[in-house]
Amino acid sequence: MTDLPARRLLLVHAHPDDESINNGATMARYAAEGALVTLVTCTLGEEGEVIPAGLAHLAADRDDTLGVHRSGELTAAMKELGVHDHRILGGTGRFRDSGMMGVPQNRRPGAFWNTPVEEAAPYLVEVIREVRPQVLITYDPQGGYGHPDHIQAHRVAMRAAELAADPAFRSDLGAPHRIAKIYWNRVPRSAAEEGFARLRAADVEFPGVAGIDDIPGVVDDADVTAEIDGTGHAGRKAAAMRAHATQIAVDGPFFALSNDLGQPLFTTEYYQLVRGAPGAPPGERERDLFAGTDTAPETGGPAVTTTQETER
Ligand SMILES: [Zn+2]
Repeated sequence: MTDLPARRLLLVHAHPDDESINNGATMARYAAEGALVTLVTCTLGEEGEVIPAGLAHLAADRDDTLGVHRSGELTAAMKELGVHDHRILGGTGRFRDSGMMGVPQNRRPGAFWNTPVEEAAPYLVEVIREVRPQVLITYDPQGGYGHPDHIQAHRVAMRAAELAADPAFRSDLGAPHRIAKIYWNRVPRSAAEEGFARLRAADVEFPGVAGIDDIPGVVDDADVTAEIDGTGHAGRKAAAMRAHATQIAVDGPFFALSNDLGQPLFTTEYYQLVRGAPGAPPGERERDLFAGTDTAPETGGPAVTTTQETER
């Protein structure tokens, strides 16, 4: 690998579409600013439901070709966001979508949920040691809303961050690298309430309206430590979400998943810093996820020893 951009952001998600819904504006902003934005998607979302009737045959219980189709949707979405580095954990087809919690697909061989964390994490360690991100974004321990693949994505991301920094772990996967800051996706309760008030007042075509409990990652405002104003990238985020047409129906500043329940499309995206030192004074939210990190250019690749090992 040649010289890396000074700022490097890694996102770990469970399925194609999660990145655009949760982080589309953040990804578009940092990509536009010249940061390296790397997306790792853990499964192809093969077990997802399909919204457009004309594509219903793709579903797992029919042709079972949804994964390939969603991989194409992901590529189109990344084009909208200006993100060039997107990868499937372990390569295409390594881990399969596990379905919702409790279904028999959870236990299928190769299902992401059915894979030990210690088996999946090294694939991500290799990516971390290659792109050497200062910032990692993933889900909270509940995966935001309890989907097994989201929970597993959280576990694999957190474990891989630990292993990537350990000089004793698998030197064949590259030189150790410590990620300076780790964030979990969040939505402050006040923003969710405001969004739903807007939705109820609007004239939209969704058959129903979701509730705050349907939104992954809603927490008390005080737990949110960073917010990224993506207003300038709202169009790109909406376009990326539209690219995931089997999964998302977008209507102006709102959208629905396959449950047909409208919910607000957030153009400001929110995070909780869970590892590393905050780059804002106490009581203030960070406005830049890289705040306080060492963004001096470094050369990537296994031959280089990192200079960031002193960070906490
Ligand atoms: Zn998902």
